[in-house]
Amino acid sequence: MNTASGNTVIKGGTVVDETGSRRADVVVSDEGTVLAVGDDLDGDRILDATDCVVSPGLVDLHVHLRQPGKEEAETIETGARGAALGGFTSVIAMPNTTPAMDCAAVVREVIDLAADTICDVRPSAAITVGRGGESLAPMAELVKLGVRIFTDDGTGVQDDKLMRTALEYAGSLAHLSGGQPIVLAQHCEVNALSEGTYMHEGEWSGRLGIPGQPAEAEELMVMRDIALARLTGTRVHFQHMSTAGSVAMIRAAKAAGLPVTAEAATHHFCLTDACCADYDPLYKVHPPLRTDADVAAVKEGLADGTIDAIATDHAPHTAQDKEQTFADAPPGMLGLETAFAIANTHLDLPIEAILAAMSWRPAAIAGIAADHGGPIVEGSPANLAIIDPNTTWTVSGEAMASRSNNTPYEGMAVRGRVRHTILKGEAVVIDGEAQR
Ligand SMILES: [Zn+2]
Repeated sequence: MNTASGNTVIKGGTVVDETGSRRADVVVSDEGTVLAVGDDLDGDRILDATDCVVSPGLVDLHVHLRQPGKEEAETIETGARGAALGGFTSVIAMPNTTPAMDCAAVVREVIDLAADTICDVRPSAAITVGRGGESLAPMAELVKLGVRIFTDDGTGVQDDKLMRTALEYAGSLAHLSGGQPIVLAQHCEVNALSEGTYMHEGEWSGRLGIPGQPAEAEELMVMRDIALARLTGTRVHFQHMSTAGSVAMIRAAKAAGLPVTAEAATHHFCLTDACCADYDPLYKVHPPLRTDADVAAVKEGLADGTIDAIATDHAPHTAQDKEQTFADAPPGMLGLETAFAIANTHLDLPIEAILAAMSWRPAAIAGIAADHGGPIVEGSPANLAIIDPNTTWTVSGEAMASRSNNTPYEGMAVRGRVRHTILKGEAVVIDGEAQR
């Protein structure tokens, strides 16, 4: 909420968007649009962008904000604050809340709770009622409320026929979304192979005596959904791809022209199952941390565009919940406030490629490209991230805005830090500090 009127000039940075890079100042209005892009511009207020890239705001396709139902771990407000500090101007909230986001009442509640937060939180909704995998959620009604991504995230839709029906139904709903595609996003995990398992099945699970799930628990569902995308012609988005086999199948599906997209979570391209060596549940996550070869394949998939987007799968848990045995602790780790730095530190990619995977490509997948991720030109929405890619800093869970502090990167030195974030023309983060 802007009380002061006027405009802000972002001075001295390098504008990077899908059209390329150029040195330019950017003036944004408090009303929420970019007023001018060019040399030596002035404004009522100045934000220093020296040594920074000025990018369209980052977009995260995959966050768990825990509200309603688990507000002691995170709320939409605290999650949005963490997101803004991470340079995100929009995040897609996953539906595995309590109750699940599977009906208009709960989706409306999330939209209302997000109305005045410092990040544009968009709800996804469940594919099936209660994420139970048995009957379809009222998707048409939810599309009318603005939902563009459906997922039972936390689990995959196990039933082949139900998934086929969901895809056919979703494919028939574009008339309710102004032509925007309705995307079914899948958490690929075959329960029959993963039940009772807590980490990746391999050398480390054997050594530690922790029951493991094979890579095939993910890959069999990727394989099935590629087949169903071919059968129905409806787009499938593959969430948090973690295995070399999954990346190879998606590469082949894209080469065959099938309507599939994919994301990788930050932890899947920098951590491996060896992190579980001390039985620390901080490293328990679904899908599990995999092997060095899988990490290399995920990086390769990001480098060649097989994997479209970097997501966080931000999954806050209270210390009380995480301080249990490896078997009993819930899966998941924080990601919003470290995502850019982790990508910038661990991926050997030009910054343009990192920003593509964190801004304009996920914005297109989520159907929000009119508001986020677009080129920075006069008249475009003023949703921006100003990032210093060369500053190094040390990760601290305690210092985060999240209500939880289960970061797997505690004490890690990383490179690249968000300096300012602009949402609808408002500087919601200035010099790394959330403004409200
Ligand atoms: Zn998931």
